[in-house]
Amino acid sequence: MEAKLRNLYALQQIDLNLDELEELKGDLPSEIRDMEAEENSLQEQLTALETTMRTAFTQREHADDEILSLREKSERYKSQQYQVRNNKEYDALTKEMDSAENTIARLEKEMEMFEGKATVARHDIDGIREQLESLRGVLDERRAALAEVSKSTEEEEARYRHERDKVVHKISKGELAQYERIRKAKKGRAVVTVRKGACGGCHATVPPQRLLELRQNRKPYFCEHCGRIIISDEIAVTVAPSA
Ligand SMILES: [Zn+2]
Repeated sequence: MEAKLRNLYALQQIDLNLDELEELKGDLPSEIRDMEAEENSLQEQLTALETTMRTAFTQREHADDEILSLREKSERYKSQQYQVRNNKEYDALTKEMDSAENTIARLEKEMEMFEGKATVARHDIDGIREQLESLRGVLDERRAALAEVSKSTEEEEARYRHERDKVVHKISKGELAQYERIRKAKKGRAVVTVRKGACGGCHATVPPQRLLELRQNRKPYFCEHCGRIIISDEIAVTVAPSA
C-alpha cells in the first residue's frame, strides 16, 4: 500500500509541474479554441450564403429564359392573328397573348426578387469574408504566440509526460479515475500531505485516531472535510521531487 500512496503522490507532483507549464500559456489555448469555433461558424454561414446566392442567380436565369420563350410565343400568336378566319380564333389568340403577358409580368417580378435575394446574400458574403479575414489574422498571431511559449517548455513538458506515463501505469484505473475526479474538483490538488495534524488542502484538523491510521500508510485516507487524499510526510519525503 505504501507504494500505491507513493505513486499517487508522485503523480500529483508531476501534474502540478505540468499545470505550472500550462499556466505559462495563459489564456492562449482557450482563446484559440474560441476563435476556431467562431471561424467554423463563420465558414458555415459563408457556405450557406454562397448556396443561397448561386440558387438565386440560377432561378433568375430560369425566369429570364422563360420570359424569352413566352415573348417568342407571343410574337407567334400576333402573326397568327393576321391569318385567322373568324372572331373566335382571333379571340382565342388574344387570350393566349394576354395569358403570356401576365406570366411575363409575374416572372419579371420574380426576377427582381431573385436579383434582390442574390444582392443581399452577396453583401452578407462580403461582410463575413471581412470578418473571417480579420479573425484569421488574430488567430495566426495567437497561434504563433502559443507556439513560442510551447517551444520554450516542450522539452520539460515531454519529460513530465514521460514520467507521468510511467507512474500512471502503476496506478489502477479506478484509483486514477478517483484521483482525476478529486483533482478536477479541487483546483488540481487531489493528494496533499498532513500538516501539523491538519489536511494540507483545506486545513481541517484530522482526528488523532485517524492521524495514527494515516501514518501507518496502509490505505488512502480521505479528508472528511474536502475529500482530498491525505498522505503522511513519510510518504512525501520518499517521493523524489520531479522538478
Ligand atoms: Zn481537506
